[in-house]
Amino acid sequence: LIRFDKVTKRFGSNVVLDNLDFSVDSGKHVTLIGPSGSGKTTILRLLMTLLKADEGTIKVNGDYLTHEEKNGKLVPAGEKHIREVRKNIGMVFQQFNLFPNMKVLRNLTEAPVTVLGMSKEAAEERARDLLELVGLTEHIDKYPTQLSGGQQQRVAIARALAMRPKVLLLDEVTSALDPELVAGVLDVLRDIARTTDITMLCVTHEMNFARDISDAVLMFDKGRVLESGPPEKIFGDPEHDRTREFLSAVL
Ligand code: ATP
Repeated sequence: LIRFDKVTKRFGSNVVLDNLDFSVDSGKHVTLIGPSGSGKTTILRLLMTLLKADEGTIKVNGDYLTHEEKNGKLVPAGEKHIREVRKNIGMVFQQFNLFPNMKVLRNLTEAPVTVLGMSKEAAEERARDLLELVGLTEHIDKYPTQLSGGQQQRVAIARALAMRPKVLLLDEVTSALDPELVAGVLDVLRDIARTTDITMLCVTHEMNFARDISDAVLMFDKGRVLESGPPEKIFGDPEHDRTREFLSAVL
């Protein structure tokens, strides 16, 4: 469902992603781990088209995100093409980024109505289902500032799902939360991983969570995948000393 092919991303002389290949199959949950600066967030930002790759191609759900076909030739993707492919992708950020001037319900219905053209009634019905899924039904009429950070993040997760994306990108979604609020957010994500067929790509420092939900863990170092495999292998019996060192520092 997601495929990076020889993707390179530089900031000046800093090569952040170095000829990177990796893919995530439909319905799988993949976690990216690795030291700070190894390029994990850059991958999510490329998928959200907040950044552009310098070289290589990215495909999502069978379509190029980086390119489009015109007269049988592959050319850099235009805005319209990018918008279409991006409809497959939902993202939850470290900072929840809710619309502060809208109540919870409208946070969830705004994009489905304006971007997908859903009817208000259908969008509200879906919003209510999602708020139940994230355990926030009783907060439907509140503004984001009336909620705790953990509750806001659960709204942000529901808002991403409201667009019915095929892929959910999660960028260190618990890093900005007070410790006692982390578990509630991770429980919601565990539920979503277990009960939906959505594909997940997560960057997280929560190794227990990664172990629980991941079909595969990719260990990054210096813009490359140093090693990858099922969580039991990466956490229990990694091949590289670099992975062992990283895990002993974070576990
Ligand atoms: P962390 O775990 O700390 O979030 P990361 O693995 O997600 O790290 P990235 O955020 O992808 O790492 O950053 C990779 C490298 O790219 C870093 O060296 C960072 O300084 C650099 N970088 C990221 N964004 C920019 C930018 N907009 N301009 C210049 N350099 C950038």
